Amino acid sequence: DKVYESPPWYPSPRGGTSETWAHSYQKAKAMVQNMTLLEKVNVTTGVGWSMGLCVGNTGPAIDSGFPSLCLQDGPLGIRFADHITAFPAGLTTAATWNRSLIEERGYLLGTEARAKGVNVLLGPSMGPLGIAPAGGRNWEGFSPDPVLSAIAAADTIRGIQRTGVMATAKHFVMNEQEHFRQGREWIIPDAISSNVDDRTLHEVFIWPFAESIRANVASVMCSYQMVNNSYACGNSKLLNGILKDELGFQGFVQSDWLAQRSGVISALAGLDMSMPGDGATWADGKSFWGKQLTIAVLNGTMPMERLNDMVTRIVAAWYQLGQNEPGDNPTSPNFSSWTNEEYGHLYEGSGDPATGRVNQFIDVQGSGESAHSITARRVAAEGTVLVKNEGGILPLSLDKPYRVGLFGEDAGIGKGPNFCVDRSCNQGTLASGWGSGAVEFPYLITPYDALQKSFEGTTVEFHGYPTDKYEDKDLADHDLCIVFANSDSGEGYLKWEDVKADRNNLLLQKQGDAYIQRVANSCGGDTGNTIVVIHAVGPVVVEAWIEHPRIKAVVLAHLPGEESGNALADVLLGRVDATGRLPYTIGKSIEDYGPSAQILYFPNALVPQVNYTDGLFIDYRYFDKHNITPRFEFGYGISYTTFEYSDLVISPVREKSPLPSPRPKAPVSPPEYSQQTPDARSALFPTGFRALHKYIYPYLSDLSEIKKRHFDFPKGYKTKQMLSPAGGGEGGNPSLYETFVVVTANVTNTGSRTGQEVVQMYVSFPDDVKDEEDTFSDYIEFPVRVLRGFDKVKLAPGETKKVELALTRKDLSYWSTRRQNWVMPVTGQFTIALGNSSRTMILEGRY
Ligand code: BGC
Repeated sequence: DKVYESPPWYPSPRGGTSETWAHSYQKAKAMVQNMTLLEKVNVTTGVGWSMGLCVGNTGPAIDSGFPSLCLQDGPLGIRFADHITAFPAGLTTAATWNRSLIEERGYLLGTEARAKGVNVLLGPSMGPLGIAPAGGRNWEGFSPDPVLSAIAAADTIRGIQRTGVMATAKHFVMNEQEHFRQGREWIIPDAISSNVDDRTLHEVFIWPFAESIRANVASVMCSYQMVNNSYACGNSKLLNGILKDELGFQGFVQSDWLAQRSGVISALAGLDMSMPGDGATWADGKSFWGKQLTIAVLNGTMPMERLNDMVTRIVAAWYQLGQNEPGDNPTSPNFSSWTNEEYGHLYEGSGDPATGRVNQFIDVQGSGESAHSITARRVAAEGTVLVKNEGGILPLSLDKPYRVGLFGEDAGIGKGPNFCVDRSCNQGTLASGWGSGAVEFPYLITPYDALQKSFEGTTVEFHGYPTDKYEDKDLADHDLCIVFANSDSGEGYLKWEDVKADRNNLLLQKQGDAYIQRVANSCGGDTGNTIVVIHAVGPVVVEAWIEHPRIKAVVLAHLPGEESGNALADVLLGRVDATGRLPYTIGKSIEDYGPSAQILYFPNALVPQVNYTDGLFIDYRYFDKHNITPRFEFGYGISYTTFEYSDLVISPVREKSPLPSPRPKAPVSPPEYSQQTPDARSALFPTGFRALHKYIYPYLSDLSEIKKRHFDFPKGYKTKQMLSPAGGGEGGNPSLYETFVVVTANVTNTGSRTGQEVVQMYVSFPDDVKDEEDTFSDYIEFPVRVLRGFDKVKLAPGETKKVELALTRKDLSYWSTRRQNWVMPVTGQFTIALGNSSRTMILEGRY
């Protein structure tokens, strides 16, 4: 078997090479050049788990005027905080395919973070991308399709950062399963290695990160596991080579919590910030950096230039987001992650008795017309996908008399939404997955509450049975049964029953399949109709009942957040159109997704190895390649109205050419600092300093700690490097983002109600492409088609609107491993198609 390796890439590219960030780097230089060594170390290292109020807290550089930063989860709301909004998850957000709505959700996430005093929000997530449909954390991110994920991530980042909060693109990269993501959680010495080839890495897994960098993201979080047998947070090829050189990332790289595995080595590999500061164990006061970094600089091991770059990147990001001018915004956190009481410990993990007012209970949810719940509800409604609607049973008409019953625990409140820590159990209605990507629900509107209210005053007779306590004869008393079931998963440090974070299969949990069949079989004797509503963290296999003749409608409501019931009622009753589209494929079995898409549940080596050999053929691309008929394909969803597409125009803007322009020279140069070795005595604890127990400081207790130790620079370490021809701007060579083709078409609402259509643009590469002139090479394999853009248009009955989408050089190129560059096939023709799912192309043309 091939052993996957990650090549060395040194030295770490310095930040400060982009025009967009030039101003911030100038200011950062002015600050950093006066910082002491200790201040610099402090800025790069967290003070330790639970030593401050946030999940991550850096040390300040007080004399230089740089504050301690608060880093807080997460991707769907402000974790461990009160009076916040529990937004729909990333998955639900992607299912809206609505770019302005995605941006708006990001903006409100940022708004809430800002008002709570958060500097760095730990989201959005775009890794896991979701190659394994059972992957525990896929729901935090958007979609296994790299382009949908990239667009949703970039729009979210733009929204968050518009508020002055730094966003974090996480987890970089290939944290595709929870099993063995770290060693300690799974009681093995090392974490798993996700193994992937260079082309797949570029065309699939890195794509969303590239778009995040183009959207100016301030921070990237490196992930727990190894990539090609090198830990992601110490992987020089990934951090130095791809992220900082090729993608021109100007912000800072922070480690996932305890994902750092080495000291100087990780700094040389491109890590800029250690989170939460702890090294091998939580909250033991020992760090790979902190005072170890001080020592490494003083004994000459750690290049000062690298430390300066680390600090400059962090400070520049802070300036870039305007956090130096906070205006009316709080400059420190006004909530505590560790208590709900008003007064509590300031340094929880240290055991220090000092207390203060740690929770100010600031309501950040907005109110009236600008209540954030309005957006949360819209996202949840637009992220609800209707996949079956026989005889147009939906939207429900309320003017004819019938008797409705709701069935299933998933319709009700259960023991309350916050019953288990970080939402780590499946009970009551499912509105979020579990782990650091979950929040404390301020409230949760259940389907039961909302539907009951919606039916009030109509001819509908309402019976609610959101528990199991009813007899089959109760079922017979109904004309319409709405049955609920779900499927949950989460993050690796928490397990629920036998679901060890990753799902064990794609079936409904809590006997959902049998339950749905029981309801459908007995509803209304043998004349009633059944509607199935599913809340889930990703695709579920529905084969057991999908063709049941009395199951008339199936609604996939994903993870809707606090406004769950209201949003569902909006869709079921037709207050809005059904406009969600699947952000993934629903197969008929988990095997349909291919061998690369299976979770490794048992270690297969001392360092478990997963080879993503089908990585390029992720999700629908795998189904297409192997001619597997899915149950419901990627991009699919039924609307309450109908649409017609016409007048496709494909306008070439540029002529095809194989390679992007040569990498441009950086318009500005990174700041230069004079390199004085600081006086070692200045590194000692100041006299009379009251050190907190287990708190991470940059200081030394004794000068004898600065022993010169033997240090081997990593294999392949050098001080000069060939720069990537694909680099030269943020997200890569700017020439990659030039438009080559503009595609327009008209869409008409041919039905009788207002609706929204998601117009999807798919590209098929030409046949018979060889890697350039190399006539001996094999033909390059491409997916049958790939999504490259989309637009959601709202249309009144009879109305027509023009959609316009563009294709860039990168959209029309493949990653050539030989060239180490994006190459556009110039022979043959691309097929460009507009359709309403990955299997329904409506208009097609060539370029
Ligand atoms: C998760 C991250 C999260 C961090 C801080 C880690 O366990 O993987 O996504 O941001 O904890 O809570």
